Amino acid sequence: MTPGERARRFVDELLIPREVDAELGRIMPEDVALIKREALAREISGGLHAREHGGQGWSHVEWFEVEEQFGRSTNALSWHVPTAYNVLAHGSPAQIERWLKPALRGELHDAYAVTEEHAGSDPSGIATTATRVDAGWRIDGEKWFVTYGDVAAVYIVMALAPSPTLFLVEAGLPGIGVVDDPPFTHTYPHGHPAIRFDGVVVGEDAVIGGMGGGDELQRAWFAEERLGIAARGCGAMLRLLEETTAWAISREQGGARIIDHQGVAFPLADSAADAAAGRLLGLEVARLADTGADPKLIHAKASMAKLFVSEAANRCADRCLQIFGGRGYTRTNVAERFWRELRVDRIWEGTSEIQRLIVARALERRGVERVIT
Ligand SMILES: Cc1cc2nc3c(=O)[nH]c(=O)nc-3n(C[C@H](O)[C@H](O)[C@H](O)COP(=O)(O)OP(=O)(O)OC[C@H]3O[C@@H](n4cnc5c(N)ncnc54)[C@H](O)[C@@H]3O)c2cc1C
Repeated sequence: MTPGERARRFVDELLIPREVDAELGRIMPEDVALIKREALAREISGGLHAREHGGQGWSHVEWFEVEEQFGRSTNALSWHVPTAYNVLAHGSPAQIERWLKPALRGELHDAYAVTEEHAGSDPSGIATTATRVDAGWRIDGEKWFVTYGDVAAVYIVMALAPSPTLFLVEAGLPGIGVVDDPPFTHTYPHGHPAIRFDGVVVGEDAVIGGMGGGDELQRAWFAEERLGIAARGCGAMLRLLEETTAWAISREQGGARIIDHQGVAFPLADSAADAAAGRLLGLEVARLADTGADPKLIHAKASMAKLFVSEAANRCADRCLQIFGGRGYTRTNVAERFWRELRVDRIWEGTSEIQRLIVARALERRGVERVIT
């Protein structure tokens, strides 16, 4: 079986049956333990990371196909599959031993902290500083929307030292505090709290990717995260279309199957076209990444894939909810959950507006043909 086929089976057997429980807050620690254990046993975790670190060493295409399957399930149950941000692979041997390998064994989480109150779409506006002290570095600042921030063992923090640099900051050090943990639209396993770093002292060895290397690592992080969003959005559309088509065939109103009403058939057809186009685009970017193409071109194309798929998946969820009628407005319905959950894909890892700016700049700098062919 290919990794994608293994992941489909895993999602069908372990994640989809637990979605409603997750939505209603009834997931138990034993469910989480089972998902982790099975993901490791079935070798579908840690995809792009090297095998010697505990990953699978997949190609981007294989990874895309697995993320697509994860995207077929709601409530981010796939977040229990052991993983780690790609930045950690750039760590020193000691950092890899301490953070990356345990993360890929499912023993800890990392969290990525860039965004601040006054630096969202424009991360160059961050104010968090790293100042030299005898013991190493002193971190001061506040980071917002830190996904996994409530459970992370280590924060990957972007700070000015004075050039943008990434630091690995162990959770629980003196001076770290959660200042806000707001509820969000989706019902996901982990939160996105705001975290303050007040005079947090870390060692010399806390720098990852070299002094001033933050921006470059961040571009690679964004490209991968954005392509991952595209892959999961494709999976969401696949699931939405599977479930909604089956419903539209079985449901009769006005003496006919509702799929025979054009008002139902056309939005299904439009969504199928969106899903197929998004998948081709996403896979093409993954293939390009596998050839080792120019990272700037991959960055721009990953933005284009994220923009197209996230907008298309939102349209698709809205149409499918409508086709389910009143049933589509219940939280036990897959279209309702996707309708809420997919909304953030147009915001995080850079809003749709920011993706448009990146694509437009690439048209100018790399040329129209390279961007679209
Ligand atoms: C659930 C969730 C999880 C997140 N997880 C993380 C995380 O783990 N780590 C992390 O660092 N961040 C995280 N984020 C932050 C996320 O990346 C930012 O919210 C996003 O980049 C937008 O920044 P902002 O919210 O400050 O909005 P703003 O930058 O204030 O933007 C507000 C609006 O203005 C528009 N806008 C801004 N600039 C321009 C422009 N130049 N041209 C056109 N329109 C523009 C935006 O598109 C948007 O519509 C998360 C956010 C959410 C909601």
